[in-house]
Amino acid sequence: MTDAPLIAILEDEPDIRRIMSDTLDAAGFRTMSFARATEFEAALRNITPDACLVDLGLPDRDGLALVHRLATESGAAIIIVSGRAQVQDRVTGLELGADDYIIKPFEPAELVARIRARLRRPAAQNRPGQRSTASFAGWRADFDRYALIAPDGTETPISHAEAEVLRMFLDNPRRLISRGQMLETLGGAGGESFDRAMDVRISRLRSKLGEDPKNPQLIKTIYGAGYIFLAEVSWG
Ligand code: CA
Repeated sequence: MTDAPLIAILEDEPDIRRIMSDTLDAAGFRTMSFARATEFEAALRNITPDACLVDLGLPDRDGLALVHRLATESGAAIIIVSGRAQVQDRVTGLELGADDYIIKPFEPAELVARIRARLRRPAAQNRPGQRSTASFAGWRADFDRYALIAPDGTETPISHAEAEVLRMFLDNPRRLISRGQMLETLGGAGGESFDRAMDVRISRLRSKLGEDPKNPQLIKTIYGAGYIFLAEVSWG
């Protein structure tokens, strides 16, 4: 099973780390485990995991700083697994580019399900035949490099999660996209945490697109209905 998805686990508690790797091995994933952020970052020079499970309370670093780096530099799905249950921690994690947030203690089956949900629709990853660049309103999105290129040539990195949302808009220009359709396209657990995650990603995309938050011209909110991406899009 060498083509099984590779999951990188960063967790300093040995017992939890073992539960995670045993659970994921049994579910058919390949796993690599790390106890410290420095080991994990060194390994990332040589491995390209499909998903990273990141603890926030680590002996040598706050996991949130790592999440931000991973989100801008790697195409892996990023799932925070943390004992920090405050809404503000979850929002910050998602704002920094995490794809999901699991609160400890977790059920092993839930861990597997949440990883599968994130891997099932790797919208921003390179699938054979999938289009990787799109132009709209003078902008260019490059999904191979996770970059947004402004009309003046300035490049801004986008996270895996932001790329998924952007691709959904670019695939459906000038069409109303409801929350239900977003959930269907992007996957996830739904409910309030999904809505909050979408709000965060869309506001980050708007800011990277230089939109006036009070009067966005590209990604319009249709209150009570969803969103519309207003520009014409050409792919390739
Ligand atoms: Ca910890």
